[in-house]
Amino acid sequence: MMRVPDYVQKVLGKLEAAGHEAWCVGGCVRDSLLGRTPADWDVCTSALPEETKAALGEMPTAEIGAGYGTITALAGEGPVEITTFRKEGAYSDHRRPDRVAFSQNLEDDLLRRDFTINAMAGHPRRGLRDPLGGQEDLHRKCLRCVGDPLRRFDEDALRILRCLRFAAVLGFEVEESTESALYRLADLLKTVSAERVLGEMDKLLAGAYAEEILKRYADVLGRLFPERICADVASVPPEPDARWAALLKNVPAPEEVLARLRFPKRRQKTVLAHLAGDPLTLSQLQIKGRDLLELGYAPGPRVGEVLHILLRDVQNGVLPNERSALLGALCSPQAKADG
Ligand code: ATP
Ligand code: MG
Repeated sequence: MMRVPDYVQKVLGKLEAAGHEAWCVGGCVRDSLLGRTPADWDVCTSALPEETKAALGEMPTAEIGAGYGTITALAGEGPVEITTFRKEGAYSDHRRPDRVAFSQNLEDDLLRRDFTINAMAGHPRRGLRDPLGGQEDLHRKCLRCVGDPLRRFDEDALRILRCLRFAAVLGFEVEESTESALYRLADLLKTVSAERVLGEMDKLLAGAYAEEILKRYADVLGRLFPERICADVASVPPEPDARWAALLKNVPAPEEVLARLRFPKRRQKTVLAHLAGDPLTLSQLQIKGRDLLELGYAPGPRVGEVLHILLRDVQNGVLPNERSALLGALCSPQAKADG
């Protein structure tokens, strides 16, 4: 089943050797089943944080969210976040549970997760644990809350934005009752911290289905952006800052939006530079797909890729947005070798 990297298997092995239960969980299971490369590997375990540290022995660790029971193992190609199984208490601020109770039960831990496709655990030998039907929803391309969507979005409004982010990245449909809860509770987006809005919006904007989702859920996202953003981002390379610029191109004071979302200073500059400089979109690039065909490119996706590469070079100041320079770059021996 899942191919789990050695450095993650080592973490599982050490926890199990000390008598605990340990599973890969969440996004890494989802992405493995989809054949996508996981961004990071998370492990959940019956071991308490102190027991996790003891079980890992000499392996270097960091304790970022120790209050919530998370130990990060730093031994491998990437950090592995190890979180004790937990059950969550009530939420009173739409952000964080008032109380976190550790549990000895994997199923408790899966029940507190946001969407069914994110609520699966996997193990290289024990297989998949999927009590909520995540795998079926993956096949159906369906985003569905774990439990009652109204309650889950009300508990933590970040989930509203995560839902749209996964829809934009994966191209999934939002299940009906989850979707109606999105609309009903959209106002709660105002309670999400700027830092988390930025983190999720970056991922949403880089998604292959970003434009579709921006258009379809304009009413929901409008609660975060009352200044009428522009949803036409698909013709811009899928890099967050270029896409933020496209999003804000008709906003009278984009710098205010960037400041409000607490963009780091350097990124504010990059986005504003994208906004000031042309071309922002392929349609403004001084050559077209037809020019490439005339140069002998075969019709097909490569034409679009090459145009995006040129667009990026222009945006980065490597090439001027001039027809002769762009044609010259295409005809240079370097371009032929690359292409
Ligand atoms: P990515 O590919 O961006 O890492 P991910 O699904 O792994 O996506 P993470 O933020 O790494 O997202 O979270 C890991 C897992 O933790 C999720 O898959 C989900 O099971 C759970 N999770 C994260 N945020 C929430 C939340 N706000 N509410 C409930 N569960 C959450
Ligand atoms: Mg993850």
